Amino acid sequence: MPIGLAVLLALSLAAQPSAPAPFTVLTKDARRPLPVRLFSGQEMFALDDLARLFELTSREDTLAGGLTISTKTQTITLTPGQALASAAGRVVSLPAPPVKEGRSWFVPLDFVPRALAPALGTRLELRRPSRLIVVGDTRVPRITARIEPLGAITRVTFDVLPATPHTVVQEGTRILVRFDADVLDATLPVSPVPDVVKALHVGESPLTIAIEPGPRFASFKSSDAAGERGAGRIVVDLVGPTTDAPAATPAPAVPAAPEAPPLLDIPPAGAVRTIVVDAGHGGDEHGARGPQGTLEKDVTLAVARRLKTAIESRLGARVILTREADQTVGLDERAAVANNNKADLFISLHANASVRGLAAGAEVFYLSLGDYGAQAQRVAQGESEALPVFGGGTRDIDVILWEMAQARHIEQSAALATAVEASLRQRVPMSPRAIQQAPFRVLVGANMPAVLVEMGFITNAEQERQLASEGFQSGIVQALVDSITQFRDSRSTPRSVPPGTGARD
Ligand SMILES: [Zn+2]
Repeated sequence: MPIGLAVLLALSLAAQPSAPAPFTVLTKDARRPLPVRLFSGQEMFALDDLARLFELTSREDTLAGGLTISTKTQTITLTPGQALASAAGRVVSLPAPPVKEGRSWFVPLDFVPRALAPALGTRLELRRPSRLIVVGDTRVPRITARIEPLGAITRVTFDVLPATPHTVVQEGTRILVRFDADVLDATLPVSPVPDVVKALHVGESPLTIAIEPGPRFASFKSSDAAGERGAGRIVVDLVGPTTDAPAATPAPAVPAAPEAPPLLDIPPAGAVRTIVVDAGHGGDEHGARGPQGTLEKDVTLAVARRLKTAIESRLGARVILTREADQTVGLDERAAVANNNKADLFISLHANASVRGLAAGAEVFYLSLGDYGAQAQRVAQGESEALPVFGGGTRDIDVILWEMAQARHIEQSAALATAVEASLRQRVPMSPRAIQQAPFRVLVGANMPAVLVEMGFITNAEQERQLASEGFQSGIVQALVDSITQFRDSRSTPRSVPPGTGARD
């Protein structure tokens, strides 16, 4: 899988214990390196470097032992030993206290977006995976590409955040995607189909991504789609010579493809062969935190690992985790893992948080369509249309909008949620609102029944202890295995349909 490869590559690069790679500070007219030092496993910037780049002055208060950093209009105060900063009159938390070495001070990376940005009154976006700090209104779209073999075509999809004006042109042997931006922040996978797409790379001009076609490439089509929350999607379909058409026939003129891959391999109803278990949060994103410091991301990963073992040994289904370790995974990427693996079920694990310290109990969610409007409702009602198929002819296939893949599974997701809720109730405390619908982003793109389980409230001291305990975790796992079994068995029972009614769905 290209995504997997890219993740592995990123992990192996990040895991080198020697001097950490510097960040690059990007403004419209300059790229400046910003070195990083490691103190007890915590990456830090030198305050002197920040002062030079952002025109700060600092003054140490020897009596109070603190440090005051001044921008033109605001001040930031740091106190040794405290993982806090006061910036522009507000207290912000930092992942670690500042470190003093000789005469130099060092601050955690998050100091930049959390304390420095408000004090400067400008945007300072810290992008860890690409080790960038984007300053002000510099346009640095984040581009994630994936390459999927879809029968006669090979689809290259670029997700672009924020949506950015671009053109797609063929130049010589290559297809170029040119962006109207200041810098590109691109993650490009290794191609799984090198005879159609040899490689993707950032072109000579830094604002271009080049698709290098392989020997079997014949023609291409590109189309654009709007994503959620200001994201854009560019789909480039590369067509190889058709294998099922007579050899002399040139590649057919193909219509602009819909933004979602056609779903041709729908497993028989009832089959539960592959389950994707999503350990919520991870990496930089800790999720909720308990009063004793237990992190949601650690609880979700621990339960996900146990659940994988239990499902694989007891149900004989394949389980894929959206993350295997403490790593950052985007919300859309999580659903993509499930879609790319043609999973039959998607289960996202979380722990809940509330400002009311006493809130307790598990909650099960499935998607509500309300926020996704009329288009989603149409998808849910199963409207499909006939589309020309590559290679000629037409065939009825369901065209679904990738963004709303979940819409058509809402009913099954509700059934799964009901089974999960009933099984959890046998083993763990339930919230008064045990089953709910909500517009969770992670569920929207999942093209299979999908639920999100809030296992308990980590902000409740008693539940925090439970969530971290082996007994409670295996209770959750047992309940989930029971409910998946029940859901599977109920689906595989043929529905009794009077003959001649032509029921199909
Ligand atoms: Zn969560």
